Amino acid sequence: MRTKMVAGNWKMNKTLQEGVELAAQLKNDVKNPKCAVVIGTPFIHLATVAELVKGSPIKVAAENCADKDKGAYTGEVSAAMVASTGAEYCILGHSERRAYYHEDYEILKNKVELALANGLKVIFCIGEVKEERLENKQNEVVKAQLEGSVFHLTAEQWANITLAYEPVWAIGTGLTATPEQAQEIHAFIRGLVAEKYGKQAADDTTILYGGSCNEKNAAELFACPDIDGGLIGGASLVPEKFEAIIAAR
Ligand code: PEP
Repeated sequence: MRTKMVAGNWKMNKTLQEGVELAAQLKNDVKNPKCAVVIGTPFIHLATVAELVKGSPIKVAAENCADKDKGAYTGEVSAAMVASTGAEYCILGHSERRAYYHEDYEILKNKVELALANGLKVIFCIGEVKEERLENKQNEVVKAQLEGSVFHLTAEQWANITLAYEPVWAIGTGLTATPEQAQEIHAFIRGLVAEKYGKQAADDTTILYGGSCNEKNAAELFACPDIDGGLIGGASLVPEKFEAIIAAR
């Protein structure tokens, strides 16, 4: 059976002190979740937050890592450095990284490989922009994103991949894919995984929905058979909301 999961993505929010306060509250409140719980934090929070939540059900993710192993890349943070903080996951392929930092298929392929090689699990984000949805191109877009950056992985590596389908038009906009829209494309994505890695691997692959998922719409989305949980941006910054989403899973 595949893992059900609710993962937060704090993005570029919270000072170190504010982040520690938020993580401490989550640790205090989230004692027996029915699903895996991951919080994605900025790099500077990772070591402190990973230490803070140690022994609790909460795991920590980086929101990015470098596409190079190590060396003269000023300002970059390698996958090995992320792993050394105690973080267990790395979010890669987020639409904001693709759009604002020009992360193309090849760059993301390198990042995924380095993250996995350093023992991190990857939450890999895919999804179409509004124009592509209006032209009904969402299926070909997610297929190309998977083929471009992760479908070269071995079956063994694939076991450490969680997918997050995030329609870009729904991220931070208050617009959410309807459960029907989300279920339809999640099933399509699972079908692609089945074609590539076989039915068992596809059944075991966790596919999260992300895009204005909140405490009000989470239960309806999570009730869909191919939606295994959520990647949560804005609502993950508010403990009551994030905890309600975890409870909905
Ligand atoms: C995200 O950034 O991954 C996301 C889903 O954001 P939000 O929940 O704010 O739409």
